[in-house]
Amino acid sequence: MSFVFNNSYAHLPPRFYVRQSPVPVLAPRLVRLNRELAGELGLDLSWLASPEGIAVLAGNHVPAGAEPLAMAYAGHQFGGFVPQLGDGRAILLGEVLSPEGERFDIQLKGSGRTFFSRGGDGRAWLGPVLREFIMGEAMHALGIPTTRALAAVATGEPVFRDEEFPGAVLTRVARSHVRVGTFEYFAARQDTEALRQLADYVIARHYPEAGQSDRPYRALLVGVINRQADLIARWLAVGFIHGVMNTDNMSIAGETIDYGPCAFMDTFHPERVYSSIDRDGRYAYGNQPQIAHWNLLRLAECLLPLLDEDQGKAREVAQAAIDAFPGRFKAAHLERFRAKLGLTVALPDDSDLISDLLQVMAESHADFTNGFRALCDAAVGSEAGFLKEFGDCRAAKEWLRRWRVRWEQEPMEADLRASRMRRTNPAVIPRNHRVEAALAAALEQDLGPLDQLLRVLASPWDDQAESFPYRSPPEPHEVVHQTFCGT
Ligand code: AMP
Ligand code: MG
Repeated sequence: MSFVFNNSYAHLPPRFYVRQSPVPVLAPRLVRLNRELAGELGLDLSWLASPEGIAVLAGNHVPAGAEPLAMAYAGHQFGGFVPQLGDGRAILLGEVLSPEGERFDIQLKGSGRTFFSRGGDGRAWLGPVLREFIMGEAMHALGIPTTRALAAVATGEPVFRDEEFPGAVLTRVARSHVRVGTFEYFAARQDTEALRQLADYVIARHYPEAGQSDRPYRALLVGVINRQADLIARWLAVGFIHGVMNTDNMSIAGETIDYGPCAFMDTFHPERVYSSIDRDGRYAYGNQPQIAHWNLLRLAECLLPLLDEDQGKAREVAQAAIDAFPGRFKAAHLERFRAKLGLTVALPDDSDLISDLLQVMAESHADFTNGFRALCDAAVGSEAGFLKEFGDCRAAKEWLRRWRVRWEQEPMEADLRASRMRRTNPAVIPRNHRVEAALAAALEQDLGPLDQLLRVLASPWDDQAESFPYRSPPEPHEVVHQTFCGT
């Protein structure tokens, strides 16, 4: 049985999108199907894997009930405003409801040219498609809100970038594809009616509690701000760097979206950048909270016409909401890192304890993931691994001593503390060199390393034997210094 579509975006006014079917491809071949996600969505696995299902996932067949369209949006890219971006290589097929009644977009990415393609070919290639697959699944297993890949299909057609690559289509599942840039699109056109319709739509779909408020649009803004503050804190807690936090890549629903040149850090440094297109480090690890704040300010500006008839008052309302972001982020960040340190009671000096650890980490070039994982062992007395991670430096020993003193304020038994810490400090992350190796093998038709990587990433908290090789940082010759965008 095919998707059972239940569409809502397609019923918004025509200026929200351009109707467009995916462009068929030569020879679709299923590369990977996300069986777990299909199960969660109540989809028919055998149909998805059948020639008919694959034809839908490749864009060769538009199933009954789909209302394919390319969404309109704008965006600030690296600080500069582009009034029209839109889905240049993606098609929203429609929406489905999960067995729990939750609504999800089914989008094909790499599905051919659209009205918004500008000079682009509307296509994607296998490397970035599988990269997005891996990263989304890793994030999901880490408990971080994210879009996910349902399938990757090879098209049998070449895609031309610097070289020729095998084309592919990703089926992306998202709570929605509404972005900060979607609001910017209508704000730039001073189309207040569309802004209101979009805001009402988003409230109904993602922030129903805001609809109950006496100031729904303010409540919407606050809701988006809160979800982003929480999301960025979660990213920082696992060493994730998005890489392209443009406003068109920031989801209104609060999910991680548009995995391009993103990366998980190995050795910790707050200024770490991997993206080849981020030359100034605008989207460096430690800049992400400020950038989120900046992006949310762009959203607040868009909402001004809705916040109050008196634009002076509207500005005050928007400013107050925006000014709450740093505090909200700091609280979320503290909560995440307290948990990483095994602390359950909130004390005023915790913030220093956390930032001092991060500073020692940066100075001693410790591995972010393994440093925190070793701290779990230190919680039950074995400090050697932790100290080794920090090059046995005096500052690390001194920090451990302070951490132990801090325990006196904690009610929890050491064993319980360690086991809780192991649920917040992952053993495995998608290390760049492992991701690159899996992608390189997949391009040579060997899906073994990809399958193995995905299997290990599905259980990031466990000490299973299978995961050990994936826990090692790269050898010097394996270090990935740059990641590339998926275009
Ligand atoms: P991204 O960098 O993937 O967030 O995309 C930024 C904008 O460029 C969006 O409007 C995309 O739809 C568009 N875009 C990216 N790659 C392509 C492509 N190969 N063909 C057409 N449009 C593209
Ligand atoms: Mg994008």
